[in-house]
Amino acid sequence: MFSKKIEELLNNQVNKEFYSAYLYLSFANFYVEHGLSGFANWYQIQAQEERDHALLFVKYMQDNGIKVTLKAIDQPNIVLNDNMDALKAGLEHEKYVTDLIHKIYAAADEEKDFRTKQFLDWFVKEQGEEETNAGELIKKMELFGADSRGLYLLDQELGNRTYAPPSLVL
Ligand code: MG
Repeated sequence: MFSKKIEELLNNQVNKEFYSAYLYLSFANFYVEHGLSGFANWYQIQAQEERDHALLFVKYMQDNGIKVTLKAIDQPNIVLNDNMDALKAGLEHEKYVTDLIHKIYAAADEEKDFRTKQFLDWFVKEQGEEETNAGELIKKMELFGADSRGLYLLDQELGNRTYAPPSLVL
């Protein structure tokens, strides 16, 4: 019942979500190196969420008899020079992922693949939240990051983020 195109798009998304986890882990490493453990914590948890997204796509494919092919994950190659770079790269990356999700959704819509559309509904909403969160981080950094005391407090705030498993259960 699934087209080759949909199967390929889903399989590709598994790779992209794992890449997102890799990317955010590289951001966490950058902040650890620069003494901002709260920013590092925020991205470490973000990486865990991206891994969860990948596993949700895998589970959906497994449950529906779609073969999963695990491919090599690209090395993150974004150059980070200052504390703002990762935040801006993060927002750009989330916009890119939103576009990927929307393309799968559009293909499923075209093919009247209602099951895949319903599965993707959660991700459409999730991407909206991801973009909002990434945008708010940039705004906070612009407002408070230039001042060392502000940066210290912002780092503390981001250090309070805790991991929660995804609300979508398959
Ligand atoms: Mg994701």
